[in-house]
Amino acid sequence: MRTRLVAGNWKMHASKAANRALLEAVAAGAATVVGAECAVCVPFPYLAQAAGLLQGTKVALGAQNASEHAQGAFTGEVSAAMLAEFDCRYVLVGHSERRQLYGEGDAQISGKFSAVLAAGMTPVLCVGETLEEREAGRTQATVARQLEAVLARSGRAAFATAVVAYEPVWAIGSGRTASPAQAQAVHAFLRQRLLPETRILYGGSVKPGNSEALFSQRDVDGGLIGGAALVAADFLAILAAAAQRKE
Ligand code: PEP
Repeated sequence: MRTRLVAGNWKMHASKAANRALLEAVAAGAATVVGAECAVCVPFPYLAQAAGLLQGTKVALGAQNASEHAQGAFTGEVSAAMLAEFDCRYVLVGHSERRQLYGEGDAQISGKFSAVLAAGMTPVLCVGETLEEREAGRTQATVARQLEAVLARSGRAAFATAVVAYEPVWAIGSGRTASPAQAQAVHAFLRQRLLPETRILYGGSVKPGNSEALFSQRDVDGGLIGGAALVAADFLAILAAAAQRKE
């Protein structure tokens, strides 16, 4: 059975004071949740603060990116091994904002995925189509291409632990979400290329009001949550919806 996962992506939103309040509230709320795991992916400078605040809680720590290189002259980059030293368990790889705003391509992303695995952490590989690709009927071809690059390098067995997040680009931060049926269709397509035990999260404007319907789909194993992860009550409501999903 796949344990559902709800992971927050804070993006570039944080401050020491705000983090403390948010993490204390999330940790307190998550303490009594059974049936779903949760994680928060925080900006690099706050990893140490978050690791301290989350120690002994049920909330796992994650980062939002990692270098594909192990070490060296890569100014401004952060290696996977560095993240592991701060108790990171999850690392987002290939988020659409990295692909679109920072030009990350499939080859680089597969290198990042492999580096995260090598450092003993769990990559969360983000895949998803743009609106243009969806309207051109290229949703499956797009996510298959994004996934194939990683499969070719790391192999299908890597997905016994690695997580995939299907995030249609048109749904991220837009308030527009894929319908449960649209999400399920892509998740089922991805599942054919993965393993029965691979966790496939849905991301894109997940809110308390739509999470239950999304998580009720057979191949939706939780969510990657952006905006709603910054509001403890919303994030916890989404976590509760994941924990309650009926088989
Ligand atoms: C994301 O950043 O991965 C995301 C899904 O954002 P939002 O929930 O705000 O759409």
